[in-house]
Amino acid sequence: MIPYGRQNISQSDIDAVIETLQSDWLTQGPAVTAFENALKSHCTSQYAVAVCNATAALHLAYLSLEIGKGSLVWTSPNTFLSTANAALMCGADIDFVDICPKTYNMSVEALIEKLQKADKEGRLPSLVVPVHFAGQSCDMAEIHKLSIKYGFKIVEDAAHAIGGKYLDKPIGNCKYSDITIFSFHPVKIITTAEGGALLTNNKDLFDKISLLRTHGMTRDPEKMNKPSEGAWYYQMVDLGYNYRITDIQCALGLSQMKRLEEFVNKRHSVRNQYESLFSNIEDVIVPYQSTDSYSSLHLYPVQVGKDKRKEIFDILRASQIGVNVHYFPVHLQPYYRRLGFYEGYCPNAENYYHSAISLPMYPDLTQNQIEYVATKLKEALT
Ligand SMILES: *Cc1c(COP(=O)(O)O)cnc(C)c1O
Repeated sequence: MIPYGRQNISQSDIDAVIETLQSDWLTQGPAVTAFENALKSHCTSQYAVAVCNATAALHLAYLSLEIGKGSLVWTSPNTFLSTANAALMCGADIDFVDICPKTYNMSVEALIEKLQKADKEGRLPSLVVPVHFAGQSCDMAEIHKLSIKYGFKIVEDAAHAIGGKYLDKPIGNCKYSDITIFSFHPVKIITTAEGGALLTNNKDLFDKISLLRTHGMTRDPEKMNKPSEGAWYYQMVDLGYNYRITDIQCALGLSQMKRLEEFVNKRHSVRNQYESLFSNIEDVIVPYQSTDSYSSLHLYPVQVGKDKRKEIFDILRASQIGVNVHYFPVHLQPYYRRLGFYEGYCPNAENYYHSAISLPMYPDLTQNQIEYVATKLKEALT
């Protein structure tokens, strides 16, 4: 089976992990800091915090921005569950902004319309979470302008997008947001097995996130309400979690960061091959690449039409091609329907979902495999 995505682990990745296993630290040692330094240096952000997964990263991002009961969070329905779930984990309310039918990202027009309406009704969001779907950046400059006008915070869900760029600058620089989060799940661009990170340029947010990552505990005398009782002493000053990542994982992450550019370049080479193979096939809509953005190409979703999607999907699976669908619109999950969302709430995301198939996309795909996928897809269309 050719999967839709998979990790690439080199001998140097393996050596880095073994070295850490033989060192003094398995968790919270030098590799965590080294990985965080590599992330912020790549992204040109001031702070980075590595955590156990991107769902935890989203949860800490929202908490650090004081999202809680009574807050309203808006995101895209074309995302993985966590983006919305993390808002509910904070006790906040969630709402969805429909996508642009061309980029499959949150539509700026739909956002403007929804903000105008919410403004009249006195129920503006506290936080908007654009998702850089498939690795292509949302229109962050526009969303940032709106955040100033309407007074909301921004977290970029860049789980798909490390190694991508927006207006020639690395995604994760947080120029247009308060916090950016990444995922390092094996199907994503680089991996630490499970893992995630938060990037920010705001020292207060960094301190809050660091505190909440480890139980809300501090050993910093300045943060205590009375003098320390000795070297053993710590205080719990907030309700936090154990969202730490291990040194073993960060050793892998650090080694993978050295290969990030190579990974993204290889993904672009796969995209170029698909594009030339589908160039004269009208029934296959390939992912649009915005000129503002250099995508990390986490996914390669093509649209084949509502009527034929299931049949084509089944033929490809039967041909040992592990195609997938990203995403079933979050607002139509049974849990979210119980909150009042319904079919037709985000028609663009729903239409896109019914017609989409994610073709295999990862650095190690060979030319033969790419041609095989394209041939089987063309056969299935006829
Ligand atoms: C994968 C993913 C997440 C969650 O990542 P985990 O590291 O698995 O928790 C969040 N948002 C998006 C858009 C994702 O694709």
